[in-house]
This record gives sequence, C-alpha cells and structure tokens, in this order.
Amino acid sequence: MNAAEAAPSTTVTVHNPTLVILATLLLGIVTAVVSTVWHFNRNIPGLRLWALSFFFAAVFSFTLLVRDHIPEVLSVVLVQATSALTAYLAWLGSRAYMGRPAPAHWYAGAAVGALMAAPVDLTGVLPHANARFLLAGLFSGTCFLLAAHTLADGGFRRVPMRYLLAGVMGFHGAWVLVRPVVFRLASQSSLLEQLPQWVRLEATVALLLMAFGVLMLANEFVTSGLRHLADADPLTGVFNRRAFLTLLDKGLSRAQRTQAPLAVLVVDLDHFKKINDTWGHQSGDDALRHFVRRAEQCLRREDVLGRQGGEEFSIFLPATDGAGAAKVAERLRVQVQAEPLQIDQRNMLVTVSIGVTLSTGDESAEAVMQRADEAMYLAKKRGRNRVEMQA
Ligand code: GH3
Ligand code: MG
Ligand code: MG
Repeated sequence: MNAAEAAPSTTVTVHNPTLVILATLLLGIVTAVVSTVWHFNRNIPGLRLWALSFFFAAVFSFTLLVRDHIPEVLSVVLVQATSALTAYLAWLGSRAYMGRPAPAHWYAGAAVGALMAAPVDLTGVLPHANARFLLAGLFSGTCFLLAAHTLADGGFRRVPMRYLLAGVMGFHGAWVLVRPVVFRLASQSSLLEQLPQWVRLEATVALLLMAFGVLMLANEFVTSGLRHLADADPLTGVFNRRAFLTLLDKGLSRAQRTQAPLAVLVVDLDHFKKINDTWGHQSGDDALRHFVRRAEQCLRREDVLGRQGGEEFSIFLPATDGAGAAKVAERLRVQVQAEPLQIDQRNMLVTVSIGVTLSTGDESAEAVMQRADEAMYLAKKRGRNRVEMQA
C-alpha cells in the first residue's frame, strides 16, 4: 500500500501522477459501489468493514496525490494510518464474514499507534524513509496474509468464491512483506526508478480484484440465504416437506443405480395435542426444536431430516438396510424419551412413534412415504413410543 512511501524520497523522485489519479478515482468508485451494496444489505457480515477498508485505500491514494501540498508530518501520518487501516479492516471484514469473532482491538490499536509514532520520529532522525516503509509493510502484509488465511480456512461459510479473495489478499500480503527487500536489491540499479510505479499498479489492481471478490461473496451470501429460505422449515430449520421430497426422489434414483437399499422413517410425536394443552403452544414449539436436536445427534451427515408438517417428521437414510434402519429408529426413540425438555425446572416428557420402511429405488417418493406412514400408524395403534417396520 505504501507506494510512494516505497521510494526513499531523497533518492527517487519519479512519480506518475496519472497512475495515482486513476488509482484514486477507481478506489473512490469501488468504495461507493461496496458501500451502496452494504447500505441495501446490512445483514451481510463483514461488508461494512470491507467498505471501510476500501474507503481508507481511497484516502491513502488521495494523500499520495496531494502530499506535496500538505505538511510532511501530516502526509506521513495519513499514509501510515490509512494503509494500516486498509489492511486491518480487510482482515476484520474477512473474519466477520466467516463468522469468527474480531481479534482484540487494543492489540492492533497499539501496533497502529506505534506505526504512527515511529515514522514521525524516524522522519526526523533518518534521512531515508526505509524504516517506516519496513514497519508499515510488516503490519499491512501480515494483516492481508491473516485475512487470506481466514478466508481459505472458510469457517462455516465454505463458499468456493472465497478463494478469489483469499488468493488476491494472500498475494498482495506476501508482496507487501517482501517489497522492502526488492527495493533494497534494486537500490543500486536503474530499476529503482521504475519500482514505485509498479508498486502503485500492483496495489491498484489488487484492490480492484479484492472488490470483485468482496462483491461475489456478498452475492453468495444473499443467494444462499434465499436458497435456505426456500428449502427450510422456519420453526426448526430442517428441510420442509417439498425440499425433503425432492431430495428423497434423488436418493431413490441413486439407490436404484447403486443397488443399495434406502430406509425411510416417519416420526410422529405422541399426544402432542395434550403437550400443547398442558404446556402451551410456545412450549410445544420448543418441544419440536428439542426433538430436532436429538434427531440430528442420532443421524449421520448423509442422512436427511425434514418436517412433513405439524409434529410429524421424516428421515431418509441412504445405503442403509433393514437392520441398520431399525437400530437408528430405536436409538432415536430411546434418546427422545431419555432426554426430556426442561421448562421452568419441570420435565416435559416427549415420546415418539416411528414407522420404518425400505426401498430399492424403483418406486416414487410418495409411495415410499405412504408405506412409512402406515408403519407409523401401526406403532400408534400398538401403544405409541415404539418402532414398527413395514416391508
Ligand atoms: P398422536 O399420539 O396420535 O399423534 O396424538 P397427537 O395429539 O400428537 O396428534 P394430533 O394429530 O391429534 O394432534 C397434533 C397436534 O399438533 C395438533 C396441533 O395443534 C399441534 N401442532 C401442529 N403443528 C404445530 C406447531 O407448529 N406447533 C405446535 N406447538 N403445535 C402444533
Ligand atoms: Mg402426534
Ligand atoms: Mg401427527
């Protein structure tokens, strides 16, 4: 980020104003675009921090443009503060997007403070700007590398688009860190005069690519939210009836192709009307969510859980035979019974009746569901809190 900084001002005076004007303009536009997207989508985590990061990059670029017309101390402080904030906010934005907590700010605040204080002093003491260039690069480069690491790691938003932003931030961070070495190596050659321009160009292109990456991630957040809304049951978060049947249809087709059995379970909470009457509708809702958590504990990752409606749920287990399905169903029944829901220090006892059936895939999702439903009603008829199989 410290492009003009890069050149010790006593040795290199080459300065390409056109490039800096263009960079300032582009970064201003990027800031406006990202800020506008944030304004209309305030729920996207990290977007505000990323918009601020671009804003400081634009201020940084503007400072380079006007640095000959303002006091040197002011320009040094502005350059250091804005470049540090650009990198730090890029990291914070990435952490927020990935659902990670912010690092302790005082730590970064102390680092930025030291950066701000050091150059002012060093400018007076040292004729060259190398020391502050090195310090600033150390901080910014590290922040960009940390941001890249956070994005590549993924947290709980493992969207493929994150790799573009991670790649650009990683490359830029590494380049910012090695830049002082490159300047040192080039210090005796005529290349030195060209370097600041390349530094500006790299920073501008990198920030533009980061803006693309940020906008793609913002888009991914919105579309995945819509996808989730369309497929999820709002009360419990599991698949709704329509989404479940679509997935079951695919599961059946795969079962037929791979010749592997597929098991379907229909689970109905017992005497739920009485639970509602006794504990209230709100606690009834809590019981439904409580059941979903128990069920998720019993299932494998490839198993699919959906809510058919009311207090009736359905589960399908790919590549599972009769014995395996009976075991899962019995484990679920026992676990629901064994862990009552605690409300105001009282235990709400919940039991379930489960119907199980198998399919080899050569039938419709509706037909399999109907068989599992019949098995569940059999369990009700035979006394509830039990598992019945229907071949
Ligand atoms: P059974 O053991 O035979 O299944 O008896 P049941 O009382 O569970 O079955 P019934 O079908 O008679 O009653 C289901 C009740 O579930 C009636 C309805 O008010 C309640 N219910 C349906 N959806 C919801 C919901 O989203 N939240 C709550 N709290 N109750 C619901
Ligand atoms: Mg019921
Ligand atoms: Mg029911």
